[in-house]
Amino acid sequence: MANLASFTAWIADYAEVVNDQADYLTDLDRAIGDADHGSNMKRGMAKAAELAGAEEFASIDVYLKKVGMTLVSNVGGASGPLYGTFFLRMAGALADVEEAGAAEVGAGLRAGVEGILARGKAEAGDKTMYDAWAPALEAFDSAAGSGSDLAGALGAAAEAAATGRDATQELIARKGRASYLGERSRGHLDPGATSSTMLLESAARTLT
Ligand code: ADP
Ligand code: MG
Ligand code: MG
Repeated sequence: MANLASFTAWIADYAEVVNDQADYLTDLDRAIGDADHGSNMKRGMAKAAELAGAEEFASIDVYLKKVGMTLVSNVGGASGPLYGTFFLRMAGALADVEEAGAAEVGAGLRAGVEGILARGKAEAGDKTMYDAWAPALEAFDSAAGSGSDLAGALGAAAEAAATGRDATQELIARKGRASYLGERSRGHLDPGATSSTMLLESAARTLT
């Protein structure tokens, strides 16, 4: 079961990952975008990770809401509003939850991804972060449905996200900056699908 401390550990872990992987994420974005995805994520997540030390949060949802607002206001470009909305919607789904198990985290992830879709209007195969999230949600539900606990379901989700991320390599982008390249966007991993997979890998390590 994940409590408030698990969620703050998740944000801290992910901030460390995107800090360490900032150059890699920016290189991916250099190939098919504007070479800022790593710096965007690093800046936003550093701000989000500072929240836990700066104030006391009454609950998981109050904390995640602040994380979302921090990303929206500190990260320009596509990824700030998209990840920001993800955390805001996840917060909404976790209102009144003190200890989140597989059912609650699954509902939170699904609500978050619905927020990404509401904002960005991506569909499966558009070569966006949704191409990591869609298979991840499916794998999460299938693992949880067959009796996996939270850690097991998150592990399955992270693995499926990585497969979805890898499959973005051969796709032609139809949303976001990469779509301006058309056919030339093929042959490169999508940066947002890569950072989303990292977010799930981080969740599998910390939301237990
Ligand atoms: P920007 O493209 O504004 O510079 P980033 O480089 O930080 O922003 O983020 C780019 C990532 O955002 C892409 O790799 C893609 O995964 C994601 N993205 C862009 N547009 C959309 C969209 N409409 N729906 C979902 N994800 C999107
Ligand atoms: Mg960019
Ligand atoms: Mg940009």
